[in-house]
Amino acid sequence: MGECLFCKIAAKEIPAAVVYEDDALLAFKDIFPQAPVHLLIIPKAHCAGLCDMTPAIAEAAGRVPQVAVQLAREAGVEESGWRLLANCGPDSGQSVFHLHFHLLGGKALGGRLCQ
Ligand code: 5GP
Ligand code: ZN
Repeated sequence: MGECLFCKIAAKEIPAAVVYEDDALLAFKDIFPQAPVHLLIIPKAHCAGLCDMTPAIAEAAGRVPQVAVQLAREAGVEESGWRLLANCGPDSGQSVFHLHFHLLGGKALGGRLCQ
């Protein structure tokens, strides 16, 4: 996936502020943060979105909540609250077509999930 931005971040061809890495997952700070804590958690292997997961990627993605808890704790928002979400497809506003989960926190995020 030569032109995929997040593949390039996973391959360290494009710099990112990495906060977590294991064999299959990478987490880094969002470049345009929408909250004081705004991290992206991705499978290293390319996958366009939730609908395109292979069994191996689904297995890696299944560990994302655990990783998110650890990152929320490290970012100091475990108690104040945080949100984990993935956009999928045009109506969600997904703009990068490499599966990623947003971890947002550090401010009141609002009760509405859509406007
Ligand atoms: P989406 O809208 O696809 O759910 O989220 C894509 C996210 O990727 C956006 O929040 C955007 O700010 C972030 N993003 C886009 N380009 C880059 C980049 O080059 N580096 C980092 N760290 N984040 C990026
Ligand atoms: Zn990719």
